[in-house]
Parts: sequence; C-alpha cells; structure tokens
Amino acid sequence: MKLTVDWDICQGHGRCVMVAPEFFDFKEGEDKPTVIVSDISEAQKSLAQRACRSCPERALLLQE
Ligand code: SF4
Repeated sequence: MKLTVDWDICQGHGRCVMVAPEFFDFKEGEDKPTVIVSDISEAQKSLAQRACRSCPERALLLQE
C-alpha cells in the first residue's frame, strides 16, 4: 500500500505527525509534512488508516 499526502489540500496543522511520527515529518523549511515511509506493510496498515482518519482536510491517501 502507498501512503501519500496532497499538499494542495493539506493545511499543515500536523495531526498526522502526532498520530504517526514514524510515517510523517516536517522537513526543515517546510510547513507541510513529508511522507517518510510511503510503502505501508500489512502490519503498519492500521496505524496508517488511523493517521488518514485523523486528517480533518482528508489530505492523506492510502491506496493498494
Ligand atoms: S493532518 Fe492532514 S492537513 Fe494536517 S498536516 Fe497532516 S496531512 Fe496536512
């Protein structure tokens, strides 16, 4: 599964980073998070789904 963030929608408030810091991070100079682990395993799926649900802008996408 692939985890992505749409920066055109993202508002940068960072809920995803708080929920799943192993998947997202704010790089220096950026006000929107980067996906640092985009290949999501079956074992990581539940946390990735929780992160997607935590985003009030629906900027996160988890796809097969
Ligand atoms: S929770 Fe959503 S809108 Fe907020 S920083 Fe993360 S991806 Fe962007």
